[in-house]
Amino acid sequence: MNIHLHRLWMTLLLLLVGLPGPVAAQSGGPGEVGDAPPFQEHIVAPGETLFSIARQYGTTVDAIAHANAIPDPRQIFAGQRLVIPSALGPVDTWMAHIVRPGETLHGIARQYGLHWQTVALANHLVNPTLLTVGQVVRIPTGQGEATGALHAVQPGETLIRIAFRYGVSFWDLVAANWTDRPPVALSGQWLRVPGVRPTGMPSPFLRIDLSPVPARQGDTLAIVVRTEKPVALEGRLFDRPVPFAEENGVYYAYVGVHAFTEPGLYELTLTATADGEGATVATTIRVEDGRYGHERIDVPPGRANLLNAQVIAAEQQRLREVRALFTPHRYWRGPFRLPVEAAISSTFGTRRSYNGGPYNSYHEGVDFDIGAGAKVYAPADGVVVLAEPLAVRGNAVVIDHGWGILTGYWHLSQIEVAAGQRVRAGEVIGRVGNTGLSTGAHLHWDFWVGGVNVNGLRWVAADGPGAVPEGSAAP
Ligand SMILES: [Zn+2]
Repeated sequence: MNIHLHRLWMTLLLLLVGLPGPVAAQSGGPGEVGDAPPFQEHIVAPGETLFSIARQYGTTVDAIAHANAIPDPRQIFAGQRLVIPSALGPVDTWMAHIVRPGETLHGIARQYGLHWQTVALANHLVNPTLLTVGQVVRIPTGQGEATGALHAVQPGETLIRIAFRYGVSFWDLVAANWTDRPPVALSGQWLRVPGVRPTGMPSPFLRIDLSPVPARQGDTLAIVVRTEKPVALEGRLFDRPVPFAEENGVYYAYVGVHAFTEPGLYELTLTATADGEGATVATTIRVEDGRYGHERIDVPPGRANLLNAQVIAAEQQRLREVRALFTPHRYWRGPFRLPVEAAISSTFGTRRSYNGGPYNSYHEGVDFDIGAGAKVYAPADGVVVLAEPLAVRGNAVVIDHGWGILTGYWHLSQIEVAAGQRVRAGEVIGRVGNTGLSTGAHLHWDFWVGGVNVNGLRWVAADGPGAVPEGSAAP
């Protein structure tokens, strides 16, 4: 807007502010005075992508993502309101903010590091106290004002913790707020957090990171949630609750994508509650086919009768108890190691048919081709939660690595740890064998995330889920 118009609006605003509030409110709707450019709004329908929406309006994914401050164009959700920038002129001078329940102009302006009058002027608001939910407020950018978020320091909060929470560097945070060293007492102060782009998410959400996106069958989905302040966080995905663990003010969850999850779109909902107020966001996650192979296994006649159903059921029950463990403490640091140094003889996820029947079961872990007596190593730090002979799995060890991550080792010839024992990465936990229902010495390695069998090899990868809390030190 040019200077002349700017002054005109300023005058108009001052004139109107001088009138009794209700009259001003009735004389024009919010944001409806004069030449405010019309905008087009689009409500995302299930299954729509930014790409399909952009095509529909003859614009680009980038333009829509920019206008709506969407950090990851893959993350839009059904019901989300989008501003379509095609009818708006250049979008590099402002971004859109959609008013959510309970938001005030002061609050919105503060969120973007702006004075409320700046926002009021940019939107030709005649009555700044009258905002409606769903209304689009234009947030001026590039006006020389500092960008970033403002953070109210909570009692007991440290600068390092605030930096972690927003994912910014400690030094950038200090530099944005003080020319000299920061004061000792911070509680109650407002800090400018540099480089934080508002995401349009309802407070107290700041940022949600998901990886990998899309996820494949048998993958582990890592969910990282950053919030403005400490919250109680609840999640739901695949009709199951998603348990979160907190570390340095950031919330982490790992969700196992079952090998038989139908490829398609699934909704992840997250609810954060703080000081008695809550907000819920939903985002869509795509699950892709794991492209696993198929194998037919022929069980020799009579072999299946070696074990009776009761024994199998008792073992399943025993493992179910262990599988359900969720230790809020994280023991591992960085990617996992392999439990043995050997070739893989059977990968995770291979669809299995027994005696020519349907392919309705799958290989639940990774098999390593290695002779009896070879050492088996803990792939990461943890606590042994099971170390005993089982009928089907033979001599078995299960390690709890914390945050719902557990690993299992079957058919061992020897168990060299005891339940309750703390183990370190690289420590010997037993020896390869051929015990239980096994047709030759090998190591079968199970990897459980939230009780779901996943592909453990992903956790060995340098950029896998094991690397997700980046560089942070566990105790
Ligand atoms: Zn196996």
